[in-house]
Amino acid sequence: MEEKKKKGGLLRDLGVLLIILLTPPVAILLWYTDTYLQGSLRELVHFFSERGFFTGMYAIWAPVFWGSKTAWIILGLFAAIEILLMKLLPGKVVEGPVTPRGYIPRYRNNGFTAFLVSLFLFWLLGFRLGLFRPAMIYDRFGEILGALNIFAWSFTLLLYVKGLCCPTTPDSGSTGSFLFDYYWGTDLYPHILGINVKHFANCRFGMMSWPLLLLAFVDKQHELYGAVSDSMIVSVTLQLIYVGIFFFYESGYFRTMDIQVDRAGYYLIWGVMVWIPSVYTLTGHWLVNHPVTIGPGLSAVLVVAGLLSFWSKTGMNRQRIRVREHDGNYRIWGHPAKIIRAKYTDDHGVERESILLADGWWGIARHFHYVGEILGALCWSLPALFSSIIPYFYVIYLTLLLVHRARRDDKRCRIKYGKYWEEYCSRVPYRILPGVW
Ligand code: NDP
Repeated sequence: MEEKKKKGGLLRDLGVLLIILLTPPVAILLWYTDTYLQGSLRELVHFFSERGFFTGMYAIWAPVFWGSKTAWIILGLFAAIEILLMKLLPGKVVEGPVTPRGYIPRYRNNGFTAFLVSLFLFWLLGFRLGLFRPAMIYDRFGEILGALNIFAWSFTLLLYVKGLCCPTTPDSGSTGSFLFDYYWGTDLYPHILGINVKHFANCRFGMMSWPLLLLAFVDKQHELYGAVSDSMIVSVTLQLIYVGIFFFYESGYFRTMDIQVDRAGYYLIWGVMVWIPSVYTLTGHWLVNHPVTIGPGLSAVLVVAGLLSFWSKTGMNRQRIRVREHDGNYRIWGHPAKIIRAKYTDDHGVERESILLADGWWGIARHFHYVGEILGALCWSLPALFSSIIPYFYVIYLTLLLVHRARRDDKRCRIKYGKYWEEYCSRVPYRILPGVW
């Protein structure tokens, strides 16, 4: 038994090591392929077959590994502005869900205002007053990724140590394995100098960088070709709306797995600080050098389909949150919502009750909202048409992530709610797609 446990721990640590070692080069290679090899994976294979993998990798990564002075200044200014907006903009204080150890996180709900102010400042300082050239961010994106990577590695290490020696909340601890703790984190809700680290890193840094980078990519395409292609306009517009909706419902995000389950380790912190800027923006980055024309018909179809996906996905998240806010007394699609009152015991042995919605979108499949998420991303990738796989990298990754996430969430809920979750599963048997899985 002991032997089996050890082996399981070793395999888990090896898996984690692989993720930590592979994800940074993948982010760098995607940027390099897109910028210097016309987004062609064949060219990339050719590059490595000529130079060898390690020397090739060194040639690509070494010049940007530590970032550059300009890159660090850009990141420092961006982080400082976002912290100021997070702290100073008005907003009601909202509560997140109570943790297993009884902690109730609190947030200032000013995400949407911060989103609008950030876009406005970027436009004013860059496009209007010309204090910086937005396209320069595209030119220096490799250095920015290098700096981001170094920062996220070090910051995660700092959070690991902090979680061990002075955790912010009781929901912290160690598994005894440095590798796994570094990857998964030791603290659930770390605060540093009064700043809620996950709120800042996930929302105000990672998610906020996404629309600003897209605007820089639009500027670069305009600089190169003297115009902005309709494919770029459709793709970027849909993404700006998606991120806008995210910030409009930011308080709902505090109830998702990212915030209430995942600790502040490499998986989350590196993910939001490096993977979001590099991978989530890939379609826009690819379009810079490929000003594809898609015409008004396809443009309209993609915008309408994208908006419908966002609308359905947002409605699904809202149903789940509203039914709990109304203690189950909530109407869905014209009738009283069918719910399960699920009891569970928290880490202090206190019995609590929660509500599982088995109706509306949540009666179709247990994670049907993931379909809306994937279709939305497909709609902003399709303007790139089909000459390269790179603009589809995000939507492919997202599909894999959400399939894995559906399993992870089911496992968590089965442990948390036991027979009540079994009842929900018997009423709603499919995970994501009814009739398929
Ligand atoms: P979910 O919105 O799926 O919420 C999961 C939690 O909701 C569960 O852990 C459980 O928590 C509760 N829950 C589960 N089933 C029910 C039910 N039937 N009724 C009521 N509550 C239920 O969380 P995610 O974090 O996976 O997704 C949040 C949003 O973020 C989604 O829109 C998703 O598409 C999006 N997303 C986007 C990603 C991206 O990279 N673009 C990645 C991941 C998610 P509890 O303990 O409260 O009961």
